[in-house]
Amino acid sequence: MQAINHAATALILKRKFPSAPLFGLILATEAVEYLWVGLNLIGIERTVIDDGMASVADIHLEHMPFSHSIVTSFLAAAAVGLAVLWRGGRAASAVATAMALGVLSHIVLDLLVHAPDIALAPYFDEVKFGSGLYAGVPMTALALETLWGLLCWRVYGGGWKLLGLMALLALAAVPSYSANVNVGEAALGGQSTVFALTILLQMLVTSALLWHFARERRACPAAGRLAA
Ligand SMILES: [Zn+2]
Repeated sequence: MQAINHAATALILKRKFPSAPLFGLILATEAVEYLWVGLNLIGIERTVIDDGMASVADIHLEHMPFSHSIVTSFLAAAAVGLAVLWRGGRAASAVATAMALGVLSHIVLDLLVHAPDIALAPYFDEVKFGSGLYAGVPMTALALETLWGLLCWRVYGGGWKLLGLMALLALAAVPSYSANVNVGEAALGGQSTVFALTILLQMLVTSALLWHFARERRACPAAGRLAA
């Protein structure tokens, strides 16, 4: 799933848990992906990209049982929640809950769009999970995840600049989701390290932009109360 649509989940969490820091929530929603980048770079997890890549359907997340499994996601969420509680005491329970939900949201959203490439747990990978949208109908996946991002924006009461950013990033993603629109994705064939670094850059830039534009909210009563 595109970085912006994972990170947008932080907007809903911020709405529900106003005391949680927005940037921390954004990082939490992408924590699993940062781990994936690191594990790919050092060769513990593996991604295969077909030569002549035309869309995300040609990217195969072949081995990622540590960053993207259902069990490790729950464990990571619990670890982050407990770490926040340990640092902040009982007063931090709302923040801890929000951060844990942020970490957990990642695998839930990935399951909704990924090819079946998500294991139950490390070493339990005979059956893998994922809706299969990326492998079969990537543009439908992009539409669905963009709708999720827009829902998050609406619930949060985000401003128009934030909406513009989300629309722009959705448009920019079309070439990598559509086999019919090509701006040079084929050059990525076999370049899994370049791909992982591209995802890292995309997450960092998207997180900073989302955080920046989320500071402005539409003048709706609910958003006003939260900002206070
Ligand atoms: Zn992911």
